[in-house]
Amino acid sequence: MEVSFHKEIQSLKLGDGDIFHGEGILAVTKALLQSGVAYVGGYQGAPVSHLLDVLVQSEDILSELGIHLETCTNEAAAAAMLAASVQYPLRGCVTWKSIVGTNVAADALSNLASPGVIGGTLIVVGEDYGEGASVIQERSHAFALKSSIWLLDPRPDLPQIVKMVEKSFELSEASNTPVMMELRIRACHVFGSFETKDNVAAPKSTREKFAEPAPFDYARLAHPPVTFLQEGDKVNRRLPLAREFIAREGLNEFMGPEAGEIGIITQGGLFNGLNDRLADAGLSDAYGDLKIPTLVLNVTHPLLPDQIVDFARGKKAVLIVEEGAPEYIELAVGKILRQADLQTAIHGKDMLPMAGEYTAAVVGRGLATFLSRYNVDPGELGQWLEAVDTNRAALNAREAPALPPRPPTFCTGCPERPVFTAMKLVKEETGPMHVSVDIGCHALATFPPFSQGHSIIGYGLSLAAASAVSGTQVKRPFTVMGDGGFWHNGLLTGVAGSVFNQDDSVLVVMNNGYSSATGAQDLPSSKPKDSGRGRGLDMEKALRAMGVTWIKRVDNYRVANLVNVLRDARLTKEKGLKVILADGECQLARQRRIKPAMAKAVAAGERVMRTRFWVDEDTCTGDHSCIRLSGCPSLTIKPNPDPLRTDPVAHVNNDCVGCGLCGEVSHAAQLCPSFARIDIIQNPTAWDRARRGLSDLLIKLFGGETQDRPTRTPTAQGVPAE
Ligand code: SF4
Ligand code: SF4
Repeated sequence: MEVSFHKEIQSLKLGDGDIFHGEGILAVTKALLQSGVAYVGGYQGAPVSHLLDVLVQSEDILSELGIHLETCTNEAAAAAMLAASVQYPLRGCVTWKSIVGTNVAADALSNLASPGVIGGTLIVVGEDYGEGASVIQERSHAFALKSSIWLLDPRPDLPQIVKMVEKSFELSEASNTPVMMELRIRACHVFGSFETKDNVAAPKSTREKFAEPAPFDYARLAHPPVTFLQEGDKVNRRLPLAREFIAREGLNEFMGPEAGEIGIITQGGLFNGLNDRLADAGLSDAYGDLKIPTLVLNVTHPLLPDQIVDFARGKKAVLIVEEGAPEYIELAVGKILRQADLQTAIHGKDMLPMAGEYTAAVVGRGLATFLSRYNVDPGELGQWLEAVDTNRAALNAREAPALPPRPPTFCTGCPERPVFTAMKLVKEETGPMHVSVDIGCHALATFPPFSQGHSIIGYGLSLAAASAVSGTQVKRPFTVMGDGGFWHNGLLTGVAGSVFNQDDSVLVVMNNGYSSATGAQDLPSSKPKDSGRGRGLDMEKALRAMGVTWIKRVDNYRVANLVNVLRDARLTKEKGLKVILADGECQLARQRRIKPAMAKAVAAGERVMRTRFWVDEDTCTGDHSCIRLSGCPSLTIKPNPDPLRTDPVAHVNNDCVGCGLCGEVSHAAQLCPSFARIDIIQNPTAWDRARRGLSDLLIKLFGGETQDRPTRTPTAQGVPAE
């Protein structure tokens, strides 16, 4: 991993009475160390990548505390890790991105929850829901309900988050049940402070090992016939124990006055946004001094029927603020009140939307409706909402020209871009093809200018998703998968399945060396290095072991070669799976790696050469086929300097990292010869200067002019400034 978390790691060392300042997700990490965990693990994914990234780089702290760390190959492996707490009194925590990660982990979660645990277990799920989300929109709540896993949704306030992490282990142990904590994007990134405690070493750990394994106990297995007993145990013993603990420890919070005609029940994670709108209505302030009775559910499963009934008793109505569908809490509260024969009206999805993120405006509108219905003056909340509407209307009606659409795209110089350029060129030659796409940076090729992809079915599942297509189409389908997806489950789910079933298709694996889309974490095939956990596993050997015989390795930046290999894979008479390993290091990680080294070398007076590309505006015809074939954000346009030509010319801006794709594309697609490579040399040697002098001389001999040639930054010619 190339990103350094040195500063964050220091805050994990704080002790009794120190003050921690920072982000919510880092507070969770510190709280884990304060809770005496014996093992941690997980699979990267926003918004909880940070948790694992920081832990991976804190190996000295973890080793001092005897904590076992596992960077798991997928979420199922992470969930399975928690098996350590089924038989042993070990506290453990794993993390992943939800809902997708929880889907992958579901099998292990069911088998973990059935026998239950004796050591406290916590699953921190990054609830990637709402406007900033990158995955399908579903709730993790469903998994907690179906498997009997307790679900925490802490109020986004650092002391509260830390308390809930610490209490989660106690709750888990008190009720022998795994606990899940959902952290929304905003909760992960909320800033604040809390008073820290010393880190705690677990009684049993990598330093203090068990002398013997646990005795055989069939009742601890998720296997019939004990699964029937375990089902009963979940509801008859563990659930009451959990409710007792939640009530005794006051994990849910009553805020505001004790009595009132109306009240609000909210998921803890939504409290801050709700409080801001209540403040607009004059019913709270920035410190959460509420004027309306509010029950903050820091635990959203299980609910405490007595607590709900006590809260609702004597109130005309309660508003339930619950994000997403279905409305699990609202349905449960309805049943609880009905059974208690309370006539308190329940509002929720009748005033707030059933689907979509509860943004400030959405919550404000629902709250205003509720307050008005029960004759409470919404105060300035009404004006605030009007201002939102007015601003929106003004924006929609503005006369300024619409901004050009800017679809998300690969980073400048990304090694995956040339593969899609080559696929586009092959498609022009041989006609359209079915392209099965996967999760990862390469999914950006579904946007213009590539617009490729027929399905995205799950991480590492693209080859399996093409299986039925390969049997029902004349033209063999193409599948794209990243090295992350390959190791996550693509090798087994896709490759083994395809070989076994003798599918005739083409798989392109983007071998960029990292799990790039989630923040450049190391993978099993990442190169081993001091700072990372890559082991350099060989994808080619793994494929051959699976029985794949047609394997080609390509350098992504050699577009002409790439086109040949893709064409060959498409047209060869050889049946079966054909795999292309597309090699090219993630440019973002590469830049992070080489930039500091280059700066150091320049400062030390060493010769350093950087490469950039440049478009000769006199030659550029202005047809922009290079842009349509590459899509590099550095490749843009500028006004034509020739007054007799009106089409803007192509232009390479200052962000160019010199990957060479544009030159390669021009060559492979036989475009114009406008592209030139420029080597920018810092601390040139005498030989460099002599070569430059010779070059100038030759140009002059052939009648050319050299006065405009760059010595450093000839921006007049479009060469990027340094
Ligand atoms: S993070 Fe790396 S692989 Fe992903 S788009 Fe950027 S350069 Fe490409
Ligand atoms: S060389 Fe071309 S494709 Fe590569 S970063 Fe520069 S402008 Fe973009």
